[in-house]
Amino acid sequence: MYNTLSRSSPRKRMAEAGSFADRVKQQADIVRVVGEYVRLKKSGQNFTGLCPFHSEKTPSFAVHPVKQIYHCFGCGAGGDVFKFVMEMDKIAFPEAVRAVAEKCGIAVPAPRERSPEERRENQLRSALVDVHKEAAAFFVQQLNSTPEGRAAKAYLLDRGVDSETAARFGLGFAPSGGEALFRTFKPK
Ligand SMILES: [Zn+2]
Repeated sequence: MYNTLSRSSPRKRMAEAGSFADRVKQQADIVRVVGEYVRLKKSGQNFTGLCPFHSEKTPSFAVHPVKQIYHCFGCGAGGDVFKFVMEMDKIAFPEAVRAVAEKCGIAVPAPRERSPEERRENQLRSALVDVHKEAAAFFVQQLNSTPEGRAAKAYLLDRGVDSETAARFGLGFAPSGGEALFRTFKPK
């Protein structure tokens, strides 16, 4: 335990990443970054455009240069420059920080040398993330292309959850029996 504390703790690593993120956020211009994905038009103090997170014909998506945030009045999406890139590119926070830094020409510090233990931890984490992604995809597929799943989908629709919403939140269906996922993964 004492040994663990003397090494670079996850909290300390987060803090290192955090201070770089703060610097990137101060220097990045959200209007320019969002502008790479969305055609923006100046409207008063803000910039508006068609929301990339839901389909619409009239712009309800706004970017605030002063507050450095975006917000959609249509679907409620909103956040800072990192959140935007995370959602658009489907990447995690650290990658989003790096991506924004690169877009804005901010030098990204070389990754610190990882200890074998940290490397193992990272490998395990990414393996687990992969397994979860595959499992999630499996349940989504069950919802969309099995008779049981389609019944569940009809129920969702009945409760006001349409396909678009189900897809956005990654809703899936777990077939009865509780072994379907195991059987799918087993040969791997
Ligand atoms: Zn929206």
